[in-house]
Amino acid sequence: MTAKIIKGKELREEILAEIKAEVDRIKEEHGVVPGLVTILVGEDPASVSYVTAKIKTANSLGFKEVQVNRPDTISEDELLALVKKYNKDKTIHGILVQLPLPGHIDEKKVINAIDPDKDVDGFHPVNTGRLVIGGSEVRFPPPTPAGIHELIKRAGVKIEGAETVVVGRSNIVGKPIAIMLLQKAEGANATVTVVHTRTRDMASHCKRADILIVAAGVPGLVKPEWIKPGACVIDVGVNRVGTKISEKTGKEVAILKGDVDFEAAKEIAGWITPVPGGVGPMTITMLMRNTLNALKYKLGIA
Ligand code: NAP
Repeated sequence: MTAKIIKGKELREEILAEIKAEVDRIKEEHGVVPGLVTILVGEDPASVSYVTAKIKTANSLGFKEVQVNRPDTISEDELLALVKKYNKDKTIHGILVQLPLPGHIDEKKVINAIDPDKDVDGFHPVNTGRLVIGGSEVRFPPPTPAGIHELIKRAGVKIEGAETVVVGRSNIVGKPIAIMLLQKAEGANATVTVVHTRTRDMASHCKRADILIVAAGVPGLVKPEWIKPGACVIDVGVNRVGTKISEKTGKEVAILKGDVDFEAAKEIAGWITPVPGGVGPMTITMLMRNTLNALKYKLGIA
């Protein structure tokens, strides 16, 4: 069997076109556009590159985009004051504080200071609670699990009743995707098992998975023989395993590998996501969708 490759890059274009059409329609009917503020502290290259990509995407969709960059010497109080300022700003519907923050700043305090109705990353405890309750309570599912869910649904994989195994239990990927697929709702109703470093026999769980979602951050963790023939394999892992010279730019770039051996796994699975180009492109896309939804909730049209 050769798996269908779930191409996040292509789905991204499809979903961004849907978002753009809605932004244009709302602008025409209500005279407003979604407003997103990105707050970047310091100059960590990975954070700079993520924020740059978010700004670029927001601009391409016609959002109002406000960029706030502060040195890593900013105090916690100054950062909290900045968040409060944008909580009050009526033209801003989404607040994104790029993580991680410098060690002297309490990340939890900053996340908890964001107005939950502008928390488009979905990390505020109120939004975690809404996600757990499910149904119409859900406002902002965290972008990476939301992207995973969208990939599985749009690939046409049957989720209802599927034995689903999630490798990893982080608050940003493992736990939320497990909860999303577990909900009593259309596009969910899976039977979900979550495995982690204290799981006794990880292989036996993975082997019975119709849907296997791997978010551990360990290259090659899932062995090809752990994959059930025909399963849907979503590889969330992004591991830098070396560098190479880019053919396009001539510059040194990272070699990225997932948590699954793609070449071997694609001969067994029914569907599989590549790394890069699978889950990765979906995260920013879903952040944009959350920001659009934040505006729609404000307008009462969500
Ligand atoms: P994390 O916070 O480090 O959590 C990793 C989870 O995997 C933990 O629950 C850990 O178990 C489990 N784990 C680690 N090694 C394991 C092993 N050998 N056996 C079983 N379980 C193991 O990581 P994360 O933030 O969820 O990210 C996971 C991966 O996804 C990373 O490679 C990250 O770069 C990638 N990622 C990609 C995107 C994207 O594409 N947009 C977004 C987010 C993350 P314990 O809880 O027991 O320690």
